[in-house]
Amino acid sequence: MFNLIKARIRHGYQAIPNPLKTQIHPSFPGRPSLSGKADLEALNRLCPVSAFEKKGLDLGKCVFCGLCERRYPDWICFNPDFKIAADKRENLIITPEQATMPPIQAIKGFKHSFAMRNVSAGGCNACELELGASNNVNFDIGRYGIEIVASPRHADAVIVTGPISKNMADALHATWQATPQPRYLILCGSCAISGGVFSNSVQLDRSFLSHWQACLYIPGCPVHPLSIVHGIHSLMGAK
Ligand code: SF4
Ligand code: SF4
Repeated sequence: MFNLIKARIRHGYQAIPNPLKTQIHPSFPGRPSLSGKADLEALNRLCPVSAFEKKGLDLGKCVFCGLCERRYPDWICFNPDFKIAADKRENLIITPEQATMPPIQAIKGFKHSFAMRNVSAGGCNACELELGASNNVNFDIGRYGIEIVASPRHADAVIVTGPISKNMADALHATWQATPQPRYLILCGSCAISGGVFSNSVQLDRSFLSHWQACLYIPGCPVHPLSIVHGIHSLMGAK
């Protein structure tokens, strides 16, 4: 008993006081800034996942490898800004000189509570680990009433990690069908949003996404827990 009390005192208070306002380490590659002078075609030739397009950089494809920044530091830099989630797929395109992400429109009725069922759909498991970490004592997503539940029948949303392999396509569909309406779909990580590093694999079956529209896209490879906390908190419209 005394040992437990001593351990508790030694550990102190470990939760980040306000994860929505906290500063992240300066080396963290978050929201990128693109110079107006950037040659997007040259950047795309370098990018392992062809994340650059005519308008700018598609954060839904980017795997945050940092290659473009190391090669062309005058054209692109990644800021330590973890607020990179978006409620529309097109809002993940970072255009030259863009300073912030567009705001996320909140859904109604979930200000104080939001339950999610995770489907791990064939990724490398790092996004699942970070999703789990968002619930640990540091990030403590539970303080906002957000929880990851064991059954889709108790969930408001399905949060998908991984690129959706053929082997997981039926399981994802079954999970979605078992989720009571109104139900919401969240794509967490570059794999879930675009296929990521697996986008050219013949082992994927992403047809589910042509039937159902996501209400939140959280980029990253892996996704940082703070990006998860911020994205879902914004979606809930919580204060
Ligand atoms: S950081 Fe993103 S955009 Fe840059 S090369 Fe890597 S994957 Fe491509
Ligand atoms: S997005 Fe990156 S970290 Fe997440 S599952 Fe895919 S490969 Fe792994």
